[in-house]
Amino acid sequence: MAKAKVFETSDGGKSVWIECPGCGIVHAFKVGGSAQPKWDWNGSVDKPTFNPSMLVNKDDPKSRCHSFIRHGIIQFLPDCHHELKNSTVELPDIDL
Ligand SMILES: [Zn+2]
Repeated sequence: MAKAKVFETSDGGKSVWIECPGCGIVHAFKVGGSAQPKWDWNGSVDKPTFNPSMLVNKDDPKSRCHSFIRHGIIQFLPDCHHELKNSTVELPDIDL
């Protein structure tokens, strides 16, 4: 098992999926390729780190999710909609 799953994308980059324990769904980080926005990834699926932060649904406070992922740990910022806001937890293994 791993905390991230990597897919090749048609633009020559990768899409790195993590399972968000706050939203209960997958969030996808685009790495390389031509797609925007794009993240830096440390290449690890066991202890992934992404920069900058992940901001999902930024214009909708009722579904917004904002986090930093470093070394397999996800830190939720205060503007998340879900109960894990302001919390830092280990990423779950991704099971697809
Ligand atoms: Zn989320």
